[in-house]
Amino acid sequence: MARESKAPSERTRVKRLNERAVYDRQGIDAILDAQPLCHVGYVRDGQPFVTPTFQWREGDHVYFHGSSASQALRSARDADVCLTVSCFDGLVLARSGMHHSANYRAVMILGRPTLIEDPELKSTLVNNFIEGLFPGRVETLRPNNAQEIKATSVLSLPISEASAKVRTGNPVDDEEDYALPIWAGVIPLHTTVGTAHDDGRILDGVEVPDHVRNFGKNMF
Ligand SMILES: Cc1cc2nc3c(=O)[nH]c(=O)nc-3n(C[C@H](O)[C@H](O)[C@H](O)COP(=O)(O)OP(=O)(O)OC[C@H]3O[C@@H](n4cnc5c(N)ncnc54)[C@H](O)[C@@H]3O)c2cc1C
Repeated sequence: MARESKAPSERTRVKRLNERAVYDRQGIDAILDAQPLCHVGYVRDGQPFVTPTFQWREGDHVYFHGSSASQALRSARDADVCLTVSCFDGLVLARSGMHHSANYRAVMILGRPTLIEDPELKSTLVNNFIEGLFPGRVETLRPNNAQEIKATSVLSLPISEASAKVRTGNPVDDEEDYALPIWAGVIPLHTTVGTAHDDGRILDGVEVPDHVRNFGKNMF
């Protein structure tokens, strides 16, 4: 994969172990699309908060949403945030404690999210999020009503100042330590999608849809 070697800004330039940096959009988008869980960091009254939530990407923006009453969403609006997405791919066991590590893919996006005001756009975006996870589901659902849309805030963050960092592979030990009788290597980690179960109130004749059966094939 062709790699963009330049960070979009000095503050997103990976300094520590910069050979693990990825700045091209293809690499960044692949991580964003692989993991809907994100953490949004922001400062409210001098206190840093890091709130876990869902993110989804559409083109050059990531979106996150929640209750309009959410302190996190109210604080993040028009404020400086750092949105982080990370995939934990493995534990790396070395021949010394300090060389233990992790395999991972992570993205950090800096910027100022804007609030989506238009109710129709808000509803479309939330539907896009559902559709992205479960293709074909939205057309099977009761449409969102005005009260639900009002009670939901959707924030949009441009992917303009972003970096990714990726570690893969074996532990890197001090050369002399390879002579030691110690097991070293990698324990791969994967997110496992379990078997879906219904909520016990399914009407007769309603089958498990394909978007449930096939969930997660291209994620994590
Ligand atoms: C599961 C896991 C375990 C880790 N364990 C360690 C560990 O034991 N020791 C360690 O030093 N690091 C570890 N890291 C990497 C860690 O995320 C940081 O990259 C590292 O601590 C360097 O931080 P820094 O602030 O000095 O980075 P700097 O290189 O100074 O960061 C400068 C800029 O680079 C970008 N950047 C930095 N880190 C990341 C990242 N992870 N993803 C995307 N962009 C990034 C950001 O834009 C940041 O503002 C781990 C990461 C994961 C996901």
